[in-house]
Amino acid sequence: MPVDQTLVDAAKAQARARFPSGEGGAAAVYLCDGSILTSVGFDSPNEAANLCYETGAYCEAYRQGKTVVASVCVIREHENAPFVVVAPCGICRERLAIWRESVAVAVPVTDNPSQWRSVSFQDLQPWYWAAAFSSTSHTC
Ligand SMILES: [Zn+2]
Repeated sequence: MPVDQTLVDAAKAQARARFPSGEGGAAAVYLCDGSILTSVGFDSPNEAANLCYETGAYCEAYRQGKTVVASVCVIREHENAPFVVVAPCGICRERLAIWRESVAVAVPVTDNPSQWRSVSFQDLQPWYWAAAFSSTSHTC
């Protein structure tokens, strides 16, 4: 399932709800049953302890035994700035890899960061190292 505007809007709504002022962001994922999970990171005094915005939603999907089929992360620099879509970081790509057969992610359009598009995990990681091994199948 590709990322769509509904999922991006869910991430923005979560970010606005949790961070009504200042910098903030959030993630939203579609599960295989069509439901949406959202999550945010937290700001620990020790930045090494912080987690990506996506982590909570990925962990909850895994806890439920559901497949993540689409993922988006949005950030803004302050409450008056527009949200932009950010591609998953390297660690989140590793987290997403358990659903790599079916997951799509939002990435910014290179020459226009206010725009985004949906790509497959294969498009995101064309030479993913663990592709040499069979992936774990997940059921919804
Ligand atoms: Zn990340």
